Amino acid sequence: MPDLPPPSLRLRLDEEALAANWRALDTMSGTASAGAAVKADAYGLGADKVTPVLSDAGARDFFVAHWSEVPQVLHHVPPAQVSVLHGPVRGEDAIYARAVGVRPVINSIEQAKRWLETGGGPCHLMVDTGINRLGVSLADIGDPMIAALEIDLLMSHLASADEDSALNARQLERFRTVGGSVSALRYSLANSAGIALGSDYAFDLTRPGIALYGGIPRGELAGTIRQVAHPQVAVIQVRKLAPGDSVGYNAAFTAHEEMRAGVVSLGYADGFLRCRGSGVLRCGEARLPLLGKVSMDMVVVDLRAAPAIREGDWLDVPFDLPAMAEASGLSQYELLTTLGRRFRR
Ligand SMILES: *Cc1c(COP(=O)(O)O)cnc(C)c1O
Repeated sequence: MPDLPPPSLRLRLDEEALAANWRALDTMSGTASAGAAVKADAYGLGADKVTPVLSDAGARDFFVAHWSEVPQVLHHVPPAQVSVLHGPVRGEDAIYARAVGVRPVINSIEQAKRWLETGGGPCHLMVDTGINRLGVSLADIGDPMIAALEIDLLMSHLASADEDSALNARQLERFRTVGGSVSALRYSLANSAGIALGSDYAFDLTRPGIALYGGIPRGELAGTIRQVAHPQVAVIQVRKLAPGDSVGYNAAFTAHEEMRAGVVSLGYADGFLRCRGSGVLRCGEARLPLLGKVSMDMVVVDLRAAPAIREGDWLDVPFDLPAMAEASGLSQYELLTTLGRRFRR
């Protein structure tokens, strides 16, 4: 059997920018260390590629959401550095955590009970200070099950750190109060945006995710955080359009003159949704506007600005996250995590 031919989409991961983003966030965290959220396959960029880069840069705390995400990360870092945010939801989660040595994040009295009944051991505790997602509520913090835990990290998560919301200071205050009554080895509150809120929010460990990958959740991070993901797509056909020819589903574009158009393999399954359809692809400095709608697995671009383009040539998909979020209505998180599996990473 011949080798499988390479895909017509590729995602260049700028490892230097990724490492530099971690170092910048670690520095901004002051006396705290920065960890790394690598859940959702490192926000779509590939945990297998991202984890060793961050580990080499100096990260020692890695957060995944699901138990299914553990093995990929364990290829690159020791189990005690891996935390599972969703916690032991079922008995087998606790058994698995103990067997491989990763840290569960305990999110409720029930999870604390499950962890203790299956043998206990070092864990993290998530307390809810106002997001009402996962986390032990403040009313339950005095429960004997919580007191019995062997807590490495006491953590909470900010709901609105990307905004100048009064909730930030309220959550900080509540976290300080809980920290006064629950003893843990380390305390952690800030995500990427939380790091930009200042040293009050840093405690012992910060947990950046989106900003590692080039996302800019707050203006303070612009100018520091570098783009990490660089998607590229191949032209799979060049067509000549005549005046009156329409393009793609619903014939949403009609040519008014003879022109060259490129059919590019980029579509919904690659995270390229119709709400991004008014954009451009690039070939070097040349801007190639999209013609018509994203049509399943393909888009068609105007090649008039780049007459030299031939079938098989690679185009750049602009990936400036804040600008794309603004233009599409999708969040920077959604734009990253929906990149899809067809890119060669
Ligand atoms: C996802 C997540 C983070 C990282 O958040 P970003 O906004 O991507 O920096 C940190 N902590 C917890 C608990 C998370 O779920």
